[in-house]
Amino acid sequence: MPDITNDVIIETLKSVTDPLSGKDVVSAGMIQGLQTRDGNVAFAIEVPADKGGEMEPLRKEAEDKVFALSGVVSATVVLTAEREGGAAQPSAAPAGKQTSPGQPVSPKGQGDMLPGVKSIIAVASGKGGVGKSTTAINLAMGLAAGGRKVGILDADIYGPSMPRMMGLSGRPNSADGKTLDPMENYGVKVMSIGFMVDEETPMIWRGPMVQSALEQMMRDVNWGELDVLVVDMPPGTGDAQLTMAQRVPLAGAVIVSTPQDIALLDARKGLNMFRKVDVPVFGIVENMSYFLCPDNGKRYDIFGHGGAKREAERMGVDFLGEVPIEIAIREHSDNGTPITVSQPDSQSAANYREIAERVWAHIEKGQDGGQAAPKIVIQ
Ligand code: ADP
Repeated sequence: MPDITNDVIIETLKSVTDPLSGKDVVSAGMIQGLQTRDGNVAFAIEVPADKGGEMEPLRKEAEDKVFALSGVVSATVVLTAEREGGAAQPSAAPAGKQTSPGQPVSPKGQGDMLPGVKSIIAVASGKGGVGKSTTAINLAMGLAAGGRKVGILDADIYGPSMPRMMGLSGRPNSADGKTLDPMENYGVKVMSIGFMVDEETPMIWRGPMVQSALEQMMRDVNWGELDVLVVDMPPGTGDAQLTMAQRVPLAGAVIVSTPQDIALLDARKGLNMFRKVDVPVFGIVENMSYFLCPDNGKRYDIFGHGGAKREAERMGVDFLGEVPIEIAIREHSDNGTPITVSQPDSQSAANYREIAERVWAHIEKGQDGGQAAPKIVIQ
């Protein structure tokens, strides 16, 4: 099969006419973020915010025409809109080949979006590089070690690291031709935008595309029955993260922070973001809390001890546990063999399992009605 190129796609899209301007969608400057990899094509069509509903036939036509091209394996086209004042917002939900336009998330929970998933939790951080993904993965493994059915949704679309950290490569299959089957390793299901694009490929994501990608990874993936879906959020507390926190029916959030960030109040920003959208914050995990020396197994409290716990108390959330900075954690995390599965007897694996049990206790409390269902506000 010939390789499909962006030029061929653009040429094809010139035959799709925007009903509003009468121009073709390329000349009208409506095509954004075109990505092609191994025949998987994705792009967005920018439309006026109030016309999202009417533009579905246009989206479908563009998608069908691209999908029909030789060398195209999949075509995913979404509509995006720019909100007045500059901030972006989704005008229509994601599509992808064979999917229908989406509905807003039901405030009652997963609803139609993820019928078999009992709870969704977010792992977030005030900034990048604090070990959020490493924590998310080992938390998921810890939950699975306790006998639960677990999935990981890598929503860190700016730096999707789950394929590498979970030792997975290749592409998800679609058994029914409609939904993608998540990849799986260590008994945990995984979906990541990283299966579609290179980790190294620089991508510019605008708000609506972030949202569409996320919704697609929820709705169009065959998650099956899960006790918990762990969402690895993009780092930071900007608009994209806030929208995501609003649009995903989260049972709660776990905030990962290093001792320095706790001091710098980055963790507090994360906490406030979830509070703003009424998502319960289960608590804080302090990562790289102390140094665990591989030579003598001794613990060195480089940043002092107890700061995160005190700060958590001050913020009125639980301290879920601490994880040392340890060479083995980094090596295993970067090699695709998370320490909780590769060294289950290690102290750090035990720490992660403990954190997982504390998180689970929060999830169960929420399911018993101990906490109100999160309010989902659609802007
Ligand atoms: P984030 O998701 O916050 O960007 P990552 O989980 O990708 O952070 O971690 C960043 C780097 O730090 C990775 O190389 C990871 O292996 C390493 N790392 C994370 N937590 C630890 C830890 N507790 N000890 C040692 N290395 C760690």
